[in-house]
This record gives sequence, structure tokens and C-alpha cells, in this order.
Amino acid sequence: MKGAFQIAKFFGIPVQVHWTFMLIFVYVFYEGMGKSMSWSEMGWVMVFVLALFACVVLHEFGHALTARRFGVDTRDIILSPIGGVARLDRLPEQPMHEFLVAIAGPMVNIAIGAVLSFIPLLASEESRQNFVNLFMQVIYPQSNFFVSDPSPLQYFLFGLVALNIILAIFNLLPAFPMDGGRVLRALLSLRLGRLRATQIAVYIGQLFAVLLVAYGLWNMHYITALIGLFVFFTAANEYRMVKLDEVLEGHQARDILRRQFTKLYTHDEVSLALGPLNQGIERNFLVFDEWQNLVGVLPEERILDAAKKEREGEQHSILAGQLVNNRFESILASDSLKSLFPKMQWKGHRILPVYDKGKLVGVVDKNALNNFISLQARMEKQNSPGRFWQGLFRSRRGRLENN
Ligand SMILES: [Zn+2]
Repeated sequence: MKGAFQIAKFFGIPVQVHWTFMLIFVYVFYEGMGKSMSWSEMGWVMVFVLALFACVVLHEFGHALTARRFGVDTRDIILSPIGGVARLDRLPEQPMHEFLVAIAGPMVNIAIGAVLSFIPLLASEESRQNFVNLFMQVIYPQSNFFVSDPSPLQYFLFGLVALNIILAIFNLLPAFPMDGGRVLRALLSLRLGRLRATQIAVYIGQLFAVLLVAYGLWNMHYITALIGLFVFFTAANEYRMVKLDEVLEGHQARDILRRQFTKLYTHDEVSLALGPLNQGIERNFLVFDEWQNLVGVLPEERILDAAKKEREGEQHSILAGQLVNNRFESILASDSLKSLFPKMQWKGHRILPVYDKGKLVGVVDKNALNNFISLQARMEKQNSPGRFWQGLFRSRRGRLENN
């Protein structure tokens, strides 16, 4: 992801932080100065923020490690000021697996909360009562629960328990992108199939989002209203993703296969590719040796790079064999487009040689896949969930006209 950098790697999964995450510390500092906090108080707040995000990371690992059990890899875990996200390679196939993957995150927070509340410092009857009162004060500031002054460490632990509970509850709200949306979809999928289940989960999520926006505007809680908007559009996006998945699954590589392609040979000058490149249909090429064996691929950037070097006189007559990228994957004409998508989208392959009955029959390149996807999107626009609301209004209008 752009603007994110890696801070650690656990269980082979990179943990990345988006640069905007640092703004939290600037904010804490700014607020602290405004409220003339002491340095040690500000230090506690910073440590608290770090501890909280450690809990968020554990939550994401709850998802990632459960997904791994069901054979789904996680590309990375990214932290930003609005929370964390574990980017799974794909959705688990079985609804029950999706359910477990989704619920694992909030369960981690509940577990953390439970474990922390057994720490001796918090476990006494008195401090339990104190905690409940403090919690009520946070949720319901108008109340006047009596709170005896806790130590900074106690305060810190109280806060951590409370926020883990809040994290779990918030994430279980039945709206995408929250885990609760996924839980709901998974449960509906058991009976309805994933697409229909997603559609219903999206409607519920959007209804929820509309309520959130209305509540936010009514109470002048603009952040809540913004979150509502965010939920609304993320929900629609979820539907598009699942729809795309289904469309891709229903088509094979042979459907977007290009049979005519320029063969480059290792002893060819790279500039030879500029002709087809200029015509705009081919942007990535297969490279063969003199015995007609496929040795690799030559993507557009390498060709342009070489052309620039030649223009500037740095190098002359660069050969395809010098630039060829040997790291390529072959596919079968019968492979589903769904299986190609991660290869091109996440692994960065621009062009894939396609084989049928042991013979090279053509290529699939990223342009072809993108074209196919955007064409499908235009065709499917008619049924997108956005239309649900329009349809709702239209039918009301229709009814009015009929009267
Ligand atoms: Zn989660």
C-alpha cells in the first residue's frame, strides 16, 4: 500500500504502518499542550495509544491466523489512524470458515479484556466497582458515579479493558466493513448463496449507515456522520467485489486469450518491440530462445527504459535477452479468470502465456483482464445495490403516478 512502511513481521505476515498513523502522536502532543498536561501524563497517553494499537494488531492476527487455518493467506496487516486491516488474498470459500475468520478478531479483544481483568490490580472487589463506575462515566458522562482516584497504572489498565470491549462491540456491528457485516453475510450464505447473502448484508449495512448519518447530523456529531458515509460506500464496494468474484469464476482464460502476439527472441534488439508498442495493442511480450523455448517476459517499462538509454546514448542495441524477466507463470486455457486475478493483481504478472493441450496458444495480459472487468462492471451496473435505493424511489414515484 502506498504511504505505508513495514515495522515488523510475525508468522510471516508483514505489519505495516501508514504514515498518517504518526499524526496521532502529533495530535496527542497538541492536545496535551492545550490542556497543559505534564510530560509524564502525555507519556502515559502515548503508551496507551501504542497499547491500544497493539490490541488492534492482535485483533487482525486473529483474522489472519484463522484464515491461514483454512488455507487463505494474508498479504499484510496495515495500521492507520482509523484502525487496522488484514488484507486477505481472497475470501474463504465456506461460509462457516468466513464466519470463524470474521468472528476471531472481536474474540481476541474479548479475550484480552478478560485476561486483563484478572490482573490482581484490577481483580479486587473495590477496583471492579471502580472500573464499572468509570466505564459508565465514559459512556454516559451526565451520570455522577462515584470514582475513587485510581493510580495511573490502574487507569491505564481500566482504559485498556474498556476499549477492548468497545472494539469488540463496535466491530460486531452488522455493517461492512465491520466484522459484524461479514458474520452476517456468512450466516446468510449458509442458506442463500454468497451473492444474495452479500446483497442483503449490504442493504442492512447501508440502512445502518443511513441511521448513523442521520444520528450524526441530528446531534451535530459530524465524525459519526462521516463514519456513516464511509460505511455506506464500503458496503456497496463489498457487493461489487463479490459480484466480480462470481463473474470471474464463470469465465476462463480462453475467453480473453489473445492468439496473435509478437514473439521476441533473445537475440532481437529491444527496439523491435517499439513498433507493436506504438500500435497500442501489445504492451508486454514473450521472449523465446533460438530453439523456440519460452524463456521469459518483457514488460513495457523495461522496453521504455531501454529505449531511453539508447536515445541518450548510454547503451546501444540492447537485446531482449539482456532484459528478459525469467520470473513468469504459465496458465491453462481452462483456468478460471478468478485464479488469474491474484496472479496479475497481487503478484504483479503483466502477461501470462496460455497453454492448451500442451501447446502455447496465446497470451493473457493485464489490459485484457482490466478491460474484461470494466466491461462487466458497465454491464452489471443495472443490478448494483445503488439501484436498490433508486428503485425504491422510482417505485414510489410510479405509485404516485398510478394514483
Ligand atoms: Zn476485524
